[in-house]
Amino acid sequence: MEEHKDIATPARTKAILDKYRLAAKKSLGQNFIVDTNILEKIVDAGDIDDRTTVIEVGPGIGALTEQIAKKAKEVIAFEIDDRLLPVLKDTLSPYENIKIIHQDILKADLKAFEETYLMDAEKVVVIANLPYYVTTPIILNFLESTLPIDSLVLMMQKEVANRLSAVPGTKAYGSLSIAVQYYMDAEVAFIVPKTVFTPQPNVESAVIKLTRKKEAEVIVKDEAVFFKVARSAFVQRRKTLWNNLQVAYGKEPEIREKLQAALDQSEIDPKRRGETLSLKEFGKLSDALVEQELQMIDIQSR
Ligand code: SAM
Repeated sequence: MEEHKDIATPARTKAILDKYRLAAKKSLGQNFIVDTNILEKIVDAGDIDDRTTVIEVGPGIGALTEQIAKKAKEVIAFEIDDRLLPVLKDTLSPYENIKIIHQDILKADLKAFEETYLMDAEKVVVIANLPYYVTTPIILNFLESTLPIDSLVLMMQKEVANRLSAVPGTKAYGSLSIAVQYYMDAEVAFIVPKTVFTPQPNVESAVIKLTRKKEAEVIVKDEAVFFKVARSAFVQRRKTLWNNLQVAYGKEPEIREKLQAALDQSEIDPKRRGETLSLKEFGKLSDALVEQELQMIDIQSR
């Protein structure tokens, strides 16, 4: 392949944006990386090779896509902003292993995507500098899908990265930590300063690596109940589990009796706060609640 300049330098990025008369759209979370070292670190964290299919969200002007394409078998990238399509066609023209899908990742039919693009994939990894306004739904959609994803390397706000990787007993630990750690091991790979972006975001960023657990840490009777119980335990963080469970299930004497029985069975002190419970304990508790045939009241508003 002929030598060409990386996209992720301040000068080249400016030249590309000027050429297409583009201004970054804040509403789409557009903060472009202008530092090739950071991009290489992100790609390295993905541990990819020429057998890996990489899914990217939000290629922007192609800075990260390019670095991935140098190492991966192929990159399939979802971009919502139609203004960027001609740009990507231009900037990524030296690469033959990139496919851009013009779609909102949150509206994509991931099942159909899998059948169309991933049938022969040997190893699938997601790598993205996420649009920060939709970080959580994008991650949860991937995790709850059937896509055969080995790992995800994702740039996001540092505060969100801390929540995803938080351990019990810490302020950052909550239902999001549980929703993610149910499927994946989560660790912050490195912190990223604002200065590597144009325009610069208001907050600090971090790259997190989520790796599929080799073995499930908890196996529950009903996943939907497990996730609902975990959410309900954090509705009022400062309240005890006992309080939050009564808000979720009701305060009637027969319900309280069943709640007490479920807590006894799972050997969890009702005076504890949700934030102290491990994934395994939430698993035991949700199984016990299922056995007691307790029904949660309106969770619509949660
Ligand atoms: N990958 C580029 C980089 O690292 O410089 C750009 C990252 S920028 C933080 C986020 C990108 O996601 C933008 O290109 C934006 O247009 C795109 N985006 C925002 N919302 C999206 C969505 N719902 N689906 C797909 N792409 C989206």
